[in-house]
Amino acid sequence: MAQQIILSVEDVHQHFGRFAALNGVSLQVEEGRLTALIGPNGAGKTTLYNVVCGRYRPRAGRVVFLGRDVTGLPPHRLCALGLGRSFQITNVFSRLTVLENILVPLIIKNGGALCFWRRLDRDRKLEATAMKVLAMVGLVDKAHVGVHELPYGDKRLVEMAIALAPSPRMVLLDEPTAGMNPEETEHMIRLIKSLADTHRTNFFITEHDMKVVFSVADYIYVLHQGSVLAQGTPEEIRADRRVKEAYLGGSLEP
Ligand code: ADP
Ligand code: MG
Repeated sequence: MAQQIILSVEDVHQHFGRFAALNGVSLQVEEGRLTALIGPNGAGKTTLYNVVCGRYRPRAGRVVFLGRDVTGLPPHRLCALGLGRSFQITNVFSRLTVLENILVPLIIKNGGALCFWRRLDRDRKLEATAMKVLAMVGLVDKAHVGVHELPYGDKRLVEMAIALAPSPRMVLLDEPTAGMNPEETEHMIRLIKSLADTHRTNFFITEHDMKVVFSVADYIYVLHQGSVLAQGTPEEIRADRRVKEAYLGGSLEP
């Protein structure tokens, strides 16, 4: 039986002034198939990510999530529908502890008003849920540490935990290992894999680093100059000559 389509991007065009950053992009994410969007710098990956998560309304085309046209819906509405995404916490929540950071999306999901600060340490049930999420990413030991005190790799894990907290059907990650050292990268890859396997989280990630993609993805779309150049399994993509050429100089070789 065919797998359910979780996300469908249909002929999406996005322009910045006269520059076409996305030129008719179509792709699909199937249930249980860890899907990656790769491409050289400037290919349009982050732009597509922003279209899917509702930050940009595309000039043309559709984004369909769980069978529903969600094109241009704002991020908080998409989040309520089960689309999670990571976002940079370093500016916003860095003064809070790790645990408090995870409580924020949970309180919002449970209908809490934005003046929730006084509730942060009160709701034991939400706190137990938040601790479970921290266990998923391996941050239980650091629950009461201020995020600003964490090393970079752990901050990115907090971002991941914030995305996971509302139990989304799918999580979007824009270059989850960007800026990480090899050890942090390895940890993040293992985490994404195990979340996909054990918690059945659907991931759609953009990634520049070939090694990350080949070790984590089940299916790959290659974006080049705003268009899908190739799609297939890691083996198929690895063998694709056009993809190698797009990456100039064979950085596809491990
Ligand atoms: P990637 O994430 O694959 O590196 P981006 O989606 O960030 O690529 O960028 C694709 C192209 O669109 C680049 O040429 C970039 O300069 C341009 N671009 C991205 N965002 C904007 C913006 N807000 N305004 C103008 N041009 C942009
Ligand atoms: Mg990018």
